[in-house]
Amino acid sequence: MSAALAIALSALAMTLIVGGRYLLSSGGFALATRLRHPGLYRGLETQMRREIGWSLASAAIYGIPAGIVAWGWQAHDWTRIYTDVHAFPLWYLPVSLFAYLLLHDTWFYWTHRWMHQPRLFRIAHAVHHQSRPPTAWAAMSFHPWEAITGAIVIPALVFIVPIHVAVLGLVLAIMTLMGVGNHMGWEMFPRALVHGPAGRWLITATHHEQHHAAYRGNYGLYFRFWDKACGTDIGLGSFGGTAAAAGRSDRATAARSGARPDG
Ligand SMILES: [Zn+2]
Ligand SMILES: [Zn+2]
Repeated sequence: MSAALAIALSALAMTLIVGGRYLLSSGGFALATRLRHPGLYRGLETQMRREIGWSLASAAIYGIPAGIVAWGWQAHDWTRIYTDVHAFPLWYLPVSLFAYLLLHDTWFYWTHRWMHQPRLFRIAHAVHHQSRPPTAWAAMSFHPWEAITGAIVIPALVFIVPIHVAVLGLVLAIMTLMGVGNHMGWEMFPRALVHGPAGRWLITATHHEQHHAAYRGNYGLYFRFWDKACGTDIGLGSFGGTAAAAGRSDRATAARSGARPDG
């Protein structure tokens, strides 16, 4: 088989995996939403269809670099993905997990904040914010330009930072879980976590909800570190009332916490 055909098949397989993972995870959380909060997505049917369309297009965009990397790993051992758990000391497993999450978060924070500049927002990021309020189907609802920025980060990291294949699977699982969970319109984590010491540093649905309500601030993905360090953390949201009302309470929160309304 020619290399071009092998790469194309690998990209197709990855697209199907990413698309299938999206349908299963978002579908699962949408079902959980229906059971726990019946009627929460009522009237959002047209929006959800749009979210699914954009998300499946994003799955193809994510599948291409992932497919190329998977082929390069299998055929040429180009990446730093390893399968022998003893290739590095065992303490490296959690360290690599944390390093990937931290690096991904850093990339996400800065590209996301960058895409909130008015011109770029219209081109690349408005699609994601068309969901008002977002649902579990909005996890990958990105314009192709935004999808590209998200699709390249993990495939690039596997060339630089060694990672065990199972830890990589865990990174992708956390990415999926948080991507869906942060958009589903209710909080899956216990109140004690969200409002306790852990919630001061971890991003939850309650935190990301505030980003969608205010259209600014809270740009991070997993951790609140960059938002806090750069003064863009606007606190936790409430899920209550309309987006406009949430926006108003946001600005009040931002004013109280002294957060700079960043663009
Ligand atoms: Zn945004
Ligand atoms: Zn979002």
